Amino acid sequence: MSKNFKVAVLSGDGIGPEVMAEALRVLDAVESQFEVGFERTFANVGGIAIDKEGKALPQGTIDTCKAADAILFGSVGGPKWENLPPDEQPERGALLPLRKIFGLYANLRPAIIFPALTGASSLKEAVISGGFNILVVRELTGGIYFSQPKGVEGEGRERVGIDTMRYSVSEIERICHVAFKAAQKRDGRVVSIDKANVLSTSVLWREVVETVAAEYPEIKLSHMYVDNAAMQLVRNPKQFDVILCENMFGDILSDEAAMLTGSLGMLPSASLAEGSFGMYEPSGGSAPDIAGQGLANPIAQILSASMMLRYSFAMVEAADAIDAAVESVLNQGLRTGDIYQGKADEQKVSTREMGDAIVAALGKGKA
Ligand code: NAD
Repeated sequence: MSKNFKVAVLSGDGIGPEVMAEALRVLDAVESQFEVGFERTFANVGGIAIDKEGKALPQGTIDTCKAADAILFGSVGGPKWENLPPDEQPERGALLPLRKIFGLYANLRPAIIFPALTGASSLKEAVISGGFNILVVRELTGGIYFSQPKGVEGEGRERVGIDTMRYSVSEIERICHVAFKAAQKRDGRVVSIDKANVLSTSVLWREVVETVAAEYPEIKLSHMYVDNAAMQLVRNPKQFDVILCENMFGDILSDEAAMLTGSLGMLPSASLAEGSFGMYEPSGGSAPDIAGQGLANPIAQILSASMMLRYSFAMVEAADAIDAAVESVLNQGLRTGDIYQGKADEQKVSTREMGDAIVAALGKGKA
């Protein structure tokens, strides 16, 4: 009997609907090749939700997400809504409440550079030849961004700014499990980032990481200080498989890793809750400069759908098939404008043509 999953589809603004259309066609192809059904419910989010329903995250959209097994999110925002008060703007008004309502405590951001696209990186070809595939697993709801006390207090030159960094064993444990489980589905290596030579939270972090690691004897664990990790990422990114970080270190290192790939339109992300629920979205924004012109790269959205299959639906084989289909069209030389370098073996294609080629490659992969 075929399995059925419920997906809340929140396309949003700008290029969101265009790239989402291609991701949904890829899901159609997965349905017909694997024994699975994706029941999709569409709901407004971001600017379009403000225009149609008066707020960035309407109650109906929250209800749709609650009834789903996962959220496939496009992107939100654009110049039209930039003058609204910050809390009512599309990004802040939709994304932060979604994280809070659904307890999305683990952020997964792959930084993948496919061998065909190494020229797009800011790093020298020799450093990245053959490409790299890093997954940053970042704790998203604890650490210095959220711990109390915080604020600015006192008078005059004695005024002080206070931030507190606090982590509990249970918070560290649950993000460790996410990282180790992710590594099981990849190359089986985890580098845990800390500053255990200075920070007490890092001493505890390292201790808990070691304890949890004992449950995953097949995973190769190592530790790295955050300053060294920042350096190693630009020196030799190929050494990393999974990078496990607390919130602030992960914020910084995941941006660094993503930018090493040089192609924002290629990068997916996942934010996971306890259990299998997650929200999946491209790392980039709504790209209003190219929206509605068929220029957007749909690969970030398609790889977000692949992550949804991998992490929420445990469909590793189908996720691998999508990733392989993407790699094969890149190897064929197909490029949307953002990754086109003008080489003789490249062919510039539209959003739709890129989607067509990935769907076709997926079909060939299965046969
Ligand atoms: P952006 O990521 O939208 O665009 C930055 C640059 O990258 C642009 O030149 C854009 O054309 C390009 N780009 C991004 N995705 C692309 C794709 N798939 N294909 C081809 N090119 C792509 O960032 P921005 O310009 O700073 O922000 C635009 C809007 O998006 C703002 O309103 C911002 O608030 C919003 N935003 C939303 C999210 C989100 O929904 N999660 C994230 C970031 C920014």
